[in-house]
Amino acid sequence: EFDVPESHPRYESLLTRHRIEAGVKKGITSTQGLIAEGRGEAFDYLLGERTTESADEAERVAAASLLLADRPVLSVNGNVAALVPGEIVELAEATGADIEVNLFNRTEERMEAIADHLCEHGASEVKGLRADGRIPGLDHERAKVDADGIESADVVVVPLEDGDRAEALDSMGKTEIVIDLNPLSRSAQVAAVPIVDNILRAVPNITAHARELADEPASTLETIVSEFDPDAALAAAEEAIRHGDLQ
Ligand code: ATP
Ligand code: MG
Repeated sequence: EFDVPESHPRYESLLTRHRIEAGVKKGITSTQGLIAEGRGEAFDYLLGERTTESADEAERVAAASLLLADRPVLSVNGNVAALVPGEIVELAEATGADIEVNLFNRTEERMEAIADHLCEHGASEVKGLRADGRIPGLDHERAKVDADGIESADVVVVPLEDGDRAEALDSMGKTEIVIDLNPLSRSAQVAAVPIVDNILRAVPNITAHARELADEPASTLETIVSEFDPDAALAAAEEAIRHGDLQ
């Protein structure tokens, strides 16, 4: 039903809107998600709708960090599920990560619709429905996580996460990989690895890096992670927004 040709100059942006709209109709994306999408699009436009060199580096670091993790988890909300369900499943497979549904506006219907949607895209197990764990410092509904998922994870990928929860996860001592097109967002600012890129491009690129790094020794992966500077990545993104290709 989405019949815009790939050659259309705004193909990716139109596809994104279409997927979010379909997500709302399917009951997996909240109407708030439409607003988040609009914010993201504006930043993507300013970034030139491309993966900058610095974002590509952050994506490689994210891959190394996930491969090194003992208990990596990919957190999925309504926008993520609508935009990249199959790509999240592939990333989970490439890195041995668990997938957990985690919603800002949690309703059981939406939790289940998203879990089903991910299973339709190949996920064998989706966490988040048990909600037997808590993130300290958040109000009841927004604190809910799975005890054997996000609560006990060491590395968490949180795409399009709100700033409060990103801060709370950071306070729990987790290594946070944040995918967010706004380099000024609090989520990006607290991340160990801020990825300022469209999730549509970021997730498949982290997977590609993970496949490429899969056979590297831990020492190589550790070097990749330790050489990364999150503040420099945020500054590079801001520079790309202000001065385009001069970055
Ligand atoms: P805070 O400033 O506290 O971090 P926020 O107000 O930014 O929170 P939201 O608007 O819910 O919270 O966050 C949505 C974020 O997701 C925005 O920063 C937006 O840029 C980003 N975003 C939206 N769509 C995408 C996308 N496709 N890829 C990457 N990031 C996206
Ligand atoms: Mg934000």
